[in-house]
Amino acid sequence: MAQKIDGKAIAAAVRAELKEQVAAMTAAGNTPGLAVILVGDDPASRVYVSNKEKACADVGIRSEEFTLPADTTQEQLLELVHTLNAREDIHGILCQLPLPKHLDDKAVIAAIAPEKDVDAFHAANVGHIMIGDYTFLPCTPAGVMELLHRSNIDVAGKHCVVIGRSNIVGKPMAMLLLHENATVTICHSRTQNLKEVCRGADVLVAAVGRAKFVTPDMVKPGAAVIDVGINRDENGKLCGDVDPAVDEVAGWLTPVPGGVGPMTIAMLLKNTVTAAQK
Ligand code: NDP
Repeated sequence: MAQKIDGKAIAAAVRAELKEQVAAMTAAGNTPGLAVILVGDDPASRVYVSNKEKACADVGIRSEEFTLPADTTQEQLLELVHTLNAREDIHGILCQLPLPKHLDDKAVIAAIAPEKDVDAFHAANVGHIMIGDYTFLPCTPAGVMELLHRSNIDVAGKHCVVIGRSNIVGKPMAMLLLHENATVTICHSRTQNLKEVCRGADVLVAAVGRAKFVTPDMVKPGAAVIDVGINRDENGKLCGDVDPAVDEVAGWLTPVPGGVGPMTIAMLLKNTVTAAQK
């Protein structure tokens, strides 16, 4: 059986450390402040926003929610972003995605001041990640690196395979592994011989968005398998991209829920604290 990488416990440890830092900052009159923008009434986004706000409250970060109606115009949304960019008590700005279809998410991300872009989606921050000189890291890949570090899994010289090439997970994930001297392969829907490529991985990161996609025959015995996916199985139950049977082959495995998910929120808190320290 694989050793479980307990994201819930590791996230709790990160949050406890942040709580201490925030207490010291608050005592010095600099409480970190996060603005959370939610447009429309998508129930999943609502849940994500509430979880982020609860996590902020837990560590002492002041969060302010800006809920806008679904018919908000691009101009109104950009005006809010500009106002928040100018506010000294707001250190981080997060716009919950996806936005309603008539709004241009790229323009909104581009409008957020890079030094307040705690999701690290702004092109300036993406460029900083590319050259390895960054303030913020995107929360999910940063969370994965934290899981690896705190589980003493050194990726240097190892073959790491990332399945998925999205801008928010796959691509930055590959870059962070590369910065730590891994030999990285990025796979996607056009990859040939996916099974064989994955079977060569010492560390396999699945960010596909397909329930139980990674099966035991795709995993090298003893590999560390990181499951980023959040899906519903045929019974509507929450599950990852990795088939639970991989537990029999892998050396380490993150559960879903309780693996990468809690780390993503912990890294958002960390980025907000970093923004306030700058
Ligand atoms: P995207 O849909 O943006 O990207 C999915 C990637 O998987 C694409 O690059 C796609 O390839 C690739 N892919 C799809 N099908 C296959 C296939 N058959 N073989 C190989 N590759 C394939 O998803 P995200 O990156 O945004 O998210 C991935 C998963 O992670 C989702 O389940 C999401 O819910 C979850 N997630 C979890 C977070 C957390 O906090 N735990 C945070 C963010 C996301 P191509 O580019 O060729 O289409």
